[in-house]
Amino acid sequence: MRIAPPDILSARLARLASTLEDRGLDAVIVTSLANVAYLTGFFASAAALIATRGELLLVGDGRYAQALNDRAQEFPSIRAIELPPGASYDQTLVDTLLPLQGARVGFESSHVTVRRHHFVVSQLADQGWAAALHDADGVVDGLRVRKDAWEVARLRDGAQRLSSVAKCILSNVLAGRTEADVAAEIDGALRRAGFERPAFDTIVAAGPNAALPHGRAGQRRIEAGDLVVIDCGGVLDGYCTDLTRTVAAGPAGPRERRLIEQVVEAQQAAFAAVRPGAAPEAVDEAARETLGRYGLAEAFTHGTGHGLGLEIHEAPRVSKRRAGHAEPPLQTGMVMTLEPGAYLAGWGGVRIEDDVLVTEDGAEWLTDVPRAWMS
Ligand code: ZN
Ligand code: ZN
Repeated sequence: MRIAPPDILSARLARLASTLEDRGLDAVIVTSLANVAYLTGFFASAAALIATRGELLLVGDGRYAQALNDRAQEFPSIRAIELPPGASYDQTLVDTLLPLQGARVGFESSHVTVRRHHFVVSQLADQGWAAALHDADGVVDGLRVRKDAWEVARLRDGAQRLSSVAKCILSNVLAGRTEADVAAEIDGALRRAGFERPAFDTIVAAGPNAALPHGRAGQRRIEAGDLVVIDCGGVLDGYCTDLTRTVAAGPAGPRERRLIEQVVEAQQAAFAAVRPGAAPEAVDEAARETLGRYGLAEAFTHGTGHGLGLEIHEAPRVSKRRAGHAEPPLQTGMVMTLEPGAYLAGWGGVRIEDDVLVTEDGAEWLTDVPRAWMS
């Protein structure tokens, strides 16, 4: 796994420092594991971080002792703090915070449990810490919305590998196999293509199951003529990519063919609406309006897309306008999916999903697989 080099991490820390300054904060307690990984390059199943404007106090446990030390060696702004034997993350966080007494410290309210927050606040108070902790939600998440050059390279690489996996799977005969069998083949192909793991449970949904946007891969045997929704993603160097194709098993009937073409057209309309400054809701509307013209407005039951990065679902949210809420406009460097679909209960469905990068003059496809894949 490749980890962001020190110059990239330095640039992220500098951006964090200026955000903290704007918010009047001296430090932030980072408890989102994705945010810890973003700032330090430390990927673990447990970790915590106190990020000041110039230093990253990275707390990890004994399982990661070697990795913690490696991170601190590689990037000197990191100070590695290994949990003392028997100590909890919560207690170690408090102990690490105490020397910052007097500083204005924020916390990620979306990424901390009520229990942990109460523990930290009460322990600090017991130790004479007078100030409140401040809600700093979104401070680090906000930095991740626009991908830096290193991240774009990872996502581009991931999208190309994912496209190769999809082309290989789609070239095989699907009829006669179970959904679960095809999903297992995809998962194996993802590993062989260099992905660390699938980004989510691979979806293979055939026939009537294709009408369920979040269908799983079950024991249904794929029949000739079924529409099959195949939605898969991989994690490469910590970054998620996501792709869906819908194919007919065997020759596509006229109704299946038409539905695939209509969804592809909706995706093209969404792509044409992507540019810096555009409202994400307008991108969604472009896809929705296209499907609406074919009488499929009711059949499109989810949002058009979602941001991709260290998490499979992150900002921006490309979806219907919500009352009293406007999503921030698109900016260059954002990476997101465009995945319109149409689902007809009891019959089947179609979803086509690709990953795009917002560029100065519009957008660029990162995934590259023929869309109307018909045999
Ligand atoms: Zn997907
Ligand atoms: Zn998706």
